Amino acid sequence: MASDRLPAMDQGLFALSHCNIARVALPLPVDELFEYAVPAELDGHAQPGCRAQVRVRDRLLTGVIVERTGHPQFQGRLLPIESMVDLEPALSKAMLEMLREAAIEVLCPFGIALATALPAGSAPRTAAGYAITRNGQAALALGAATEPDRSLLEALDRQPRTRTYLSKFGSAKRLDAFERDGLVVRTSLLRPAVARFATIRTANLASGVDVEVAAATILARAPQQAALLRRIAAAGEMPTRSALDGFPDASRLLRRLADRGLVELGEKRVARDVLGEPLEADSKVSLTPDQAACLKPIVDAIRESHSETFLLHGVTGSGKTEIYLRAVDAALRAGRQALVMVPEISLTHQILARLRGRFGDELAILHSGLRPGERLEQWERLRSGSTPIAVGARSALFAPLENLGVIVIDEEHDSAYKNDEGFRYHARDLARRRGKQAGCPIILGSATPSLDTRFAADRGDVKRLVLAKRIGGRPLPAVEIIDLAQERDRAPRGRKVILSTTLSRAIEKALADGGQSILFLNRRGFSTAILCFECGATERCKNCDIALVYHASEQHLRCHYCDFQIAPPDRCSNCGAPDTALMGVGTQRLEEEVRGQFPNARIARLDGDTAKKRGFTESVLRGLHDRSIDIVVGTQMVAKGHDFPGVRLVGVVVADVGLHLPDFRAAERTFQLLTQVAGRAGRDAAPGRVIVQTFDPNHYAIQPVLDHDYERFYAEELGHRKALGYPPFGRLIRVLITGPDEAETRSASLELTRLVSAIAVDGSEPELEVLGPAPAPLARLRGRYRYQLLVKGSPGPLLRGAAETLAKATAELASPLQANVDVNPMSML
Ligand code: ADP
Ligand code: ZN
Repeated sequence: MASDRLPAMDQGLFALSHCNIARVALPLPVDELFEYAVPAELDGHAQPGCRAQVRVRDRLLTGVIVERTGHPQFQGRLLPIESMVDLEPALSKAMLEMLREAAIEVLCPFGIALATALPAGSAPRTAAGYAITRNGQAALALGAATEPDRSLLEALDRQPRTRTYLSKFGSAKRLDAFERDGLVVRTSLLRPAVARFATIRTANLASGVDVEVAAATILARAPQQAALLRRIAAAGEMPTRSALDGFPDASRLLRRLADRGLVELGEKRVARDVLGEPLEADSKVSLTPDQAACLKPIVDAIRESHSETFLLHGVTGSGKTEIYLRAVDAALRAGRQALVMVPEISLTHQILARLRGRFGDELAILHSGLRPGERLEQWERLRSGSTPIAVGARSALFAPLENLGVIVIDEEHDSAYKNDEGFRYHARDLARRRGKQAGCPIILGSATPSLDTRFAADRGDVKRLVLAKRIGGRPLPAVEIIDLAQERDRAPRGRKVILSTTLSRAIEKALADGGQSILFLNRRGFSTAILCFECGATERCKNCDIALVYHASEQHLRCHYCDFQIAPPDRCSNCGAPDTALMGVGTQRLEEEVRGQFPNARIARLDGDTAKKRGFTESVLRGLHDRSIDIVVGTQMVAKGHDFPGVRLVGVVVADVGLHLPDFRAAERTFQLLTQVAGRAGRDAAPGRVIVQTFDPNHYAIQPVLDHDYERFYAEELGHRKALGYPPFGRLIRVLITGPDEAETRSASLELTRLVSAIAVDGSEPELEVLGPAPAPLARLRGRYRYQLLVKGSPGPLLRGAAETLAKATAELASPLQANVDVNPMSML
């Protein structure tokens, strides 16, 4: 290989010198830059932030030019850049800088971080093409070329073109000659899908037409036309395609009807599919005094280009979204741009509809559910500066907006903001970097803020703004807790209680009133905790205060943090009762039960399985919206910020399931989910009812749900975290080691543990605690054994050193073993 690996980047990184060497970051698991020679013809194009194709051994890879230099570190002949993917930077200098810092922070090779930030995650679709060089432009200016060469060069002077396009100016041989003479240069052209609006054809009843009169007179001998006319009349306006359903030869029928003046045919511009359904009209409301008070400091920060982080802490339905819209508006008025983020693709539709109501179609949407071409198109709209608002999930954080005025992160507590593979960034943390760089405020919105963010507000790093009440004085729904242990005692022996009598009756009543019900079963991952049927306690690790996981094959309970093990106890270690059981009711089982009890209800299920069918989740959400579904049975998917006015009842089937996951955030997630799901009820005038079934009615994560008391939960949970040194007090690093052979995987993880333990005891006081190694909660996945170890400590050089040591050691593991280091992990499975 002719190009060198560099140890690290120097200071003064991004200064562009007119030097003939480019340092390129490649998507390879080595954190080094590679040097390439810049051919003279590419000199003007090969700028930092542009993607280039280069050769590494015998492979052609797309990397990003990070800097230009005249001083190679590699001694020897450099390979040239093969071709340019971008002729103008795909990543701004500010973005490069931010990504460099973020990559260092989470120990990710720079090139991999850069590849993550670019649309589609892989190289865009490219086509071989040509661009004009300075020499070519000079030749053109001097009138040196004659036809057809002149036209060809003129075409290239306007923009780079594909070889195919250029063939119309004569044989391809001319291009080769031009290239030899240095007039043109080969390049790869980005081929975004053409940005255009789709249209649909429409058919309307002409004004003043009485359908029945027409049917009885003009159409008396044309029953098919009469039938079609009736259908159009019934539908109001309809896209022609749906009008045509079931009518053979329908376009002829339509033309006839139009000729007779009964129907008007038209064409309507609709937004491309990626922007979702056309929105409802959005009238501009006047802010409540509380909203105005929250908005003021945000707008001030926007006007003053002041980077500040706000926590907009408002109960569900308190008008947070309205504040986002006003902040976006303020940014646009200041001549700047806005980035609005939601945790999940399915939530983009809702916020999009409201943004479109306010700002029209000047929106671009970015998320991983788009096809690569669509995503590239959206991304190009932002990069070209034609669209000032970007909306999307996690990856929208990298939207190419050069002059950001505000960043909104809705449902900021959601762990989906953390990328769990490759470049393990947390969008919330990166947003703060972007905000600093751009000089713009960040709004973190939530009804149930993450403990980290709420604590940052206590420390003064974040300014907390509170909306304590729902808009219009609507009450928060009344929450009732049903004690499942009592319920079970009352039930006939041996019958597993899924729906309590109270919950069944409430569903019945909602059905009778024409309202909808959501039945929620938080069954994230798996449920293999041992639970006491008498007192509701689970068996927990004595070192870690984490639920022990039952391993059926080995017949024991095991801690997935520290590997503590015990045999399953005969009796509950809390109350001594003999009656313990494995937890777990699946959503399928729940659906069966509900169908059995309510055979006439229209029931749908939403969970991980059903989500695999493309479009299914959306169709159920739509069904909830237009009330064609009575009962939805689902996992946390139904809990997120969706706004369904018809929902009268929310039933939580077993509230404590999530509490027993082996994760120190289990209580936080449970409280957040329950509060969020409770917030789904009663969003319109009718009051909502929430019924929470639990074996653990007095748990500190469940009790405060009763009166929507976030602060009470926060205070209690903070105490636990402090006692055990978990975030936000301590930091965690998680290392996951996987391999096909259990013994090998285990020994590699022991090796890593020894390595990091040596650091931990380095100082006089052990500032680091090393937990494990232990099998990961998902102990075997896709034929690979998984071990994990955790390092816990206060943020500082020691912990940082441990992370770096681990990153280096894991990078050197020999295949088939693999390992990754997650700094500030969100998922512990
Ligand atoms: P959140 O985002 O906190 O759940 P929303 O912004 O969606 O709350 O507001 C809840 C409902 O109240 C929405 O239907 C919204 O249109 C309406 N709303 C918000 N602010 C106002 C206001 N100032 N006056 C009247 N209605 C409002
Ligand atoms: Zn333990």
